[in-house]
Amino acid sequence: MQTNAVCAPPKACFRLHPRFGKLIETYLPILCILAGLWNKTPGLYYRGVMTVFCYNVTFMVGGGVLVHYFGKKYKFDLCQPNRRQTVDLCFHEIYGTMRNCLGISLIAGWTWAAIGRGEDTMLSWNFIECYGPFGLKAILFMIMQSGIVWLFADAWTYFKHYCLHKYFFVLHKEHHAFHDPTPLAGFSLGFAESIWTFGLGLQYLIPISPFGKLWIPLHFGQIFGFMILNLYLHSGFLIPIVETILPCFLINTSSFHNIHHEKTHVNYAEVSPFWDYMLGTYDKERYNRYQTKYSFINLYKSLSSNNNSKKTLSPKGSKLIVSTKKIISSMMKDTKPKASSP
Ligand SMILES: [Zn+2]
Ligand SMILES: [Zn+2]
Repeated sequence: MQTNAVCAPPKACFRLHPRFGKLIETYLPILCILAGLWNKTPGLYYRGVMTVFCYNVTFMVGGGVLVHYFGKKYKFDLCQPNRRQTVDLCFHEIYGTMRNCLGISLIAGWTWAAIGRGEDTMLSWNFIECYGPFGLKAILFMIMQSGIVWLFADAWTYFKHYCLHKYFFVLHKEHHAFHDPTPLAGFSLGFAESIWTFGLGLQYLIPISPFGKLWIPLHFGQIFGFMILNLYLHSGFLIPIVETILPCFLINTSSFHNIHHEKTHVNYAEVSPFWDYMLGTYDKERYNRYQTKYSFINLYKSLSSNNNSKKTLSPKGSKLIVSTKKIISSMMKDTKPKASSP
């Protein structure tokens, strides 16, 4: 059963006034754009900003449309059976995503320009430079570094999200304009939140870090994985195999984050529900609603019933199976041992 109850907001002695929030959202983008003039090579910087912006919009908006298309095509269950979504809200989601893309690009442009000038940064294409000669030691170091990056990203996004709700909700309310989000809402953020979330990217400018250099294929592969997860978290679709397996690895799913959009003051985590469990902001509603539905037994039953069901097959698929069966049976006949003559 679904409830639309909204929990009490976290108590805070300070909350950013909406007027200041509006000022920040208006002038921060202008300041960030003008800051590029202080770059050693402004031309290179702005070219990098535009390139990253185009890549981001293509992936985030295009990815959102694809997830939505496939979710509808394969008729996955919805978190909210009667999704309150309008064309206006979809455009709102796309506009918010483009604003976030601008924020990310203005950050990434600094690293782009530094690499373009041939300066040393924290990023490297060279595996040996990052982890040493290829071997068990290098692989263990890579796994450890990767784990630290994930733990850090999880803690960073959780506490950022918690503080946004507790002290700076005016900077986050854009993302909560979507009670029943679609995948397009996943990256629809206010500009200040975008800088807060992705501003850490400026660390790439530092050549040396305590955790060593970051290997570009792995590091950006992980960021790509996080982005795909984020599209799914906001999709509103419930894919049984994902809903069953990801919680076993303590990773969030669509059902988990959808409750955050529904109730607002629970389930702040953006990667793993670990900090929600630890700090008492985890909402048991997901468990109540879906735990019995998305179990391994049910997954096995649904997969085996799908395999046996002929209803799900298209006429072409049925024909293919019938003709394949005929071919196999004729082959079996040919290979049957002939009865030896008396
Ligand atoms: Zn969200
Ligand atoms: Zn939120």
